[in-house]
Amino acid sequence: MSLEERAPAGIDTTRPSVARMYDYYLGGKDNFAVDREAAERVLAAVPNSRVGALENRAFLRRAVRFMVNQGIRQIIDIGSGLPTVGNTHEVAQQLVPDTRVVYVDIDPIVVAHGRAILASNEHTTVVTADMRRPAEVLDHPETKRLIDFSQPVGVLLIAMVHFISDEERPQIMGYLRDALPSGSYLAVTHITGDGKPAEAVQQIRSVYETTSTPLFFRTHAEVARFFEGFELVEPGLVTLDAWRPDPSDPSPADPELAGWAYGGVGRKP
Ligand code: SAM
Repeated sequence: MSLEERAPAGIDTTRPSVARMYDYYLGGKDNFAVDREAAERVLAAVPNSRVGALENRAFLRRAVRFMVNQGIRQIIDIGSGLPTVGNTHEVAQQLVPDTRVVYVDIDPIVVAHGRAILASNEHTTVVTADMRRPAEVLDHPETKRLIDFSQPVGVLLIAMVHFISDEERPQIMGYLRDALPSGSYLAVTHITGDGKPAEAVQQIRSVYETTSTPLFFRTHAEVARFFEGFELVEPGLVTLDAWRPDPSDPSPADPELAGWAYGGVGRKP
């Protein structure tokens, strides 16, 4: 029986999924032929774009450590993707073992693979929900079980909000901002076409149009809007490699590839 035929119920193996394509960039095995073909078309447009995915994971680790070092003890990782090396709960719990982490993703394969890994971790859970309906994410019984909204929360939207349209952004981000108490943190990374060849941008965009979640390229000013109501911490919204580089956890350090995305962390005053 092929991997496709053994896929858990509810998982569409005929259309590429952004979660499974991303798993392929990171060298994971939870992807199907249709995902690999789509991902290869992106790799043809930007050779080595895998390094960009690794830069993004390195940013995630630095942002999580930053939040925990600021006293954050509960994190919601929205659009978390499939489990990989150095997951949010592992990074956070290495610093403070009882940090609570809720993983949220729209793709049912994330829950299917996440449950097994997390079964033994009482401080961590996985939820299937659509961020475009933020109340379903924040009011989910599993979210409420681990997250106390009277205390500061760290929210991660890492390589995720570029799947959100301009029309959807104000409602989603406004809901999130209003739900979080003062002292909460928000980390965002977002793909950009700033300074990149228009042809490559168009090629990548057209690949994602074949998935259930089209991809929006945004400028620096447009990405900054996701932080409305938050104060960006130093060094602000910058290309991934420039955000608080950590010599003890070096990223692949290819400024050209890291420049395909902006990253920043904001604090709710
Ligand atoms: N955050 C991880 C990282 O940066 O390594 C994974 C990023 S992956 C490129 C984007 C993830 O966002 C996918 O797993 C996808 O299923 C998820 N996603 C896309 N739209 C979503 C939505 N509306 N609600 C929740 N998750 C979503």
